[in-house]
Amino acid sequence: CLPGLSLAASPPPLPVVASFSILGDLAQVVGGERVRVTTLVGPDEDAHAFEPRPADAKAIAQAKLLLINGLGFEPWAQKLAKSTGYQGQTVVASDGVKTNMLEAHQIDPHAWQNPVNVMRYVHNIAAGLAKADPAGAPLYQANAAAYVKELQMLDAWASAQFAAIPAAKRKVITSHDAFGYLAAHYQITFLAPQGVSSDAQPSAKQVALLIRQIQREKIRAVFVENMSDPKLLTQLSKDAGVKPGAALYSDALSGLGKPGATYLQMMRHNVTQLAAGMKLN
Ligand code: ZN
Repeated sequence: CLPGLSLAASPPPLPVVASFSILGDLAQVVGGERVRVTTLVGPDEDAHAFEPRPADAKAIAQAKLLLINGLGFEPWAQKLAKSTGYQGQTVVASDGVKTNMLEAHQIDPHAWQNPVNVMRYVHNIAAGLAKADPAGAPLYQANAAAYVKELQMLDAWASAQFAAIPAAKRKVITSHDAFGYLAAHYQITFLAPQGVSSDAQPSAKQVALLIRQIQREKIRAVFVENMSDPKLLTQLSKDAGVKPGAALYSDALSGLGKPGATYLQMMRHNVTQLAAGMKLN
């Protein structure tokens, strides 16, 4: 046995840092065994309200590739990279995605909620990895192409689930405005008391208006999210006399062994829950 040979055959994995759990999953899928992915905002954590820890700065300083969502989702990430003197490549995964605007004339950052956009994410990630590790380019391209096929199947399946629900019933209440891209792609109306960032607090008047709308339009599809405080939605459901459904995964994956541990699993869970909820409307 010649240990030197096996070392030459497999180079040390490329250190990659992803700003949040969904990007971490995509980076792992595309990079396979050639990458070692560190995720800053982990499962069930909120990227809007994230405060980097010293270990996060250390991970970025040692990385060869930094992956961020962009569109204003994680403004702390580039500040953090700058403060550590990071010299490597930064890939904005959402580059080239057709963006949606929010009512407040702000770009909606949650582009991954449409699987068609994630095809673009995966291409951007594969290109970034190939640039940082040219020898791995064929593998990254093959992994990306295989995953795009899975995304196409996911999209076709989700379209069929929602198509079975009459247009008038396609209304959902969630805690923050994270599902705009899913809403536009599958023609669903999402109403949220909290606006685009889970940081912002709605006024008592906004909540009262939403309760009246729930009652008037007989909306039963009310959902909390895995990474935001369920207090507001729980109270709102109680006041409106409806029972919230299972938590949706909006801005973060679940931990391992739970229904949203990968992007594909999280989307299947969300679509299943949303369709079941809307059928009660
Ligand atoms: Zn969000």
